[in-house]
Amino acid sequence: MTPATRADCAALDAADPLAPFREEFVLPEGVVYLDGNSLGALPRSTPGRVADMIEREWGRDLIRSWNDAGWWDKPRTLGAKIAPLVGAAADEVVVGDGTSANLFKTLVTALRMSDRSVVLGEAGNFPTDLYVAEGAASLTGATQRRVDLDGPELARDLERGDVAVLLLSHVDYRSGTLRDMPGITRLAHEHGALVVWDLCHSAGAVPVDLSGSGADFAVGCTYKYLNAGPGAPAFLYAARRHHAVADQPLSGWHGHARPFDFTAGYEPAEGVSRFLSGSQPLVADAALEASLDVWARADMGLVRAKSLAMTDLFLERAARAGISSITPAEHARRGSQVALVQPEEGSGYPIVQALIARGVIGDFRAPDVMRFGFTPLYLRYVDVWDAAQALLEVVETGEWRQERFSRRGRVT
Ligand SMILES: *Cc1c(COP(=O)(O)O)cnc(C)c1O
Repeated sequence: MTPATRADCAALDAADPLAPFREEFVLPEGVVYLDGNSLGALPRSTPGRVADMIEREWGRDLIRSWNDAGWWDKPRTLGAKIAPLVGAAADEVVVGDGTSANLFKTLVTALRMSDRSVVLGEAGNFPTDLYVAEGAASLTGATQRRVDLDGPELARDLERGDVAVLLLSHVDYRSGTLRDMPGITRLAHEHGALVVWDLCHSAGAVPVDLSGSGADFAVGCTYKYLNAGPGAPAFLYAARRHHAVADQPLSGWHGHARPFDFTAGYEPAEGVSRFLSGSQPLVADAALEASLDVWARADMGLVRAKSLAMTDLFLERAARAGISSITPAEHARRGSQVALVQPEEGSGYPIVQALIARGVIGDFRAPDVMRFGFTPLYLRYVDVWDAAQALLEVVETGEWRQERFSRRGRVT
């Protein structure tokens, strides 16, 4: 049952087993933060963890920390902490570089594993995925093709029998549509294609089962639902069965079998470590570690249930205000965000700005989507209620028509 009053929401909060997590985040007074799908909130433990890394590990222990503080192994130890959140084994995930760079590594690896030469992507994917696929294809002499995922086109395209690798987002960044990972992976494999899954809007947002789905490769960022901070390093998953043959293009010394032999020739490490390239941002790794230690105590089943209850509530309130959504109504097809369609031409951006002025932070995605992310670790049901109420008022009163809400910043 969706709560019908603010008091119902308060009652849900009082009974919420995840409620104590809110205290573990820094949340400014008067702000309802619905943009944790773009930049997660700051865990309270992060500043102390980063300060310790800087003052003790770096400042006092200096170069010794490569061994004593486990710096060299951070890509693997952090990968092992992400693994349970994405349904992978500890030795199938490494942390390092950014999502775009990891997309490039996995796509070229997959192309080199195949005797085919088409990268199939989805037309509406996040732009960097499309751009990197273009780059990976041109570097290897392959071609890129795009399909509309939400029709019969995908199956028909795969039947052509020339697809080396399929690149998809598990949760669509605009609409919040959740894709059937096991079903699509199976379909691709039946047609001889490998699959790279982009988990940017999945990790920490929805349960993910890479192993159970038979996925080949995956990438994802840690600064969204995982709360690791702006520009935090990304992760890369490679199924164990591919490790021995994986030939990734950014062959650097951190991926070498014996980096401290300082030999002249490249010889890849065994296992997922071969996907590493060079030295990693260890200060940022400390922030990631603090945020993953919060996640280690969170039950993903509870997170999912609360996420669905919150998005149900927000969708219902928005529908009452006459605002439609492109986020699927079915739970099985919904991620952890709600994408509302602007009620009239050109109103989406200023409505979001008017909400931000009231302390309700969401974002706008061109050309017409108002996007709101729901993060069950630090949001309350009353926040969802208040945000929907603010939206209703901003739309009904025409508050958004004030000229100041139409001025655009560099980042939307
Ligand atoms: C956020 C996001 C990215 C980000 O890529 P960066 O290299 O971290 O800038 C990539 N893909 C998708 C689908 C995203 O949502």
